Amino acid sequence: MKRKKTIALVAHDNMKPDLVEWADWNREALLCHNLVCTGTTGKMVADVLEGRNGQDRYRLDIRLLKSGPLGGDQQLGAMIAEKRVDALIFFWDPMEAQPHDVDVKALLRLATLYNVPTAINRSSADFIISSPLFDGDYEPAVKEYKSYVERTLKK
Ligand code: PGA
Repeated sequence: MKRKKTIALVAHDNMKPDLVEWADWNREALLCHNLVCTGTTGKMVADVLEGRNGQDRYRLDIRLLKSGPLGGDQQLGAMIAEKRVDALIFFWDPMEAQPHDVDVKALLRLATLYNVPTAINRSSADFIISSPLFDGDYEPAVKEYKSYVERTLKK
């Protein structure tokens, strides 16, 4: 994992104010990295981070995927499978079912499978962003699924 990381940001509608506030609070740290977000979350994060961009040392580097329910979670999942995401900040809503619950589950599953540092609320996001490991060359161990890939199936 390089020093400049790709951080994925996603929040369900009821959690977006929390994520936007968290992003604003951590603007200095976030501007040092590349951000990738589901569509609506990304627009809101870009608005708040671009607000004072003139005074910032770094330029905002943000990529907006499709909106989560329209495939954005799956796009992010594909990026994780390709090892193109270094951390996932995903404020999912514990109080409301989502139309794309299966995608949410798939995203969290892939983040777990590929051992991607994942924050699911503000406190865990604070711990990740402030970890000394985050500014270094930390390499998360990812299991090899060789025996699974090469398993023999009955014909
Ligand atoms: P959104 O998607 O940022 O486009 O609202 C988030 C989600 O996955 O629900």
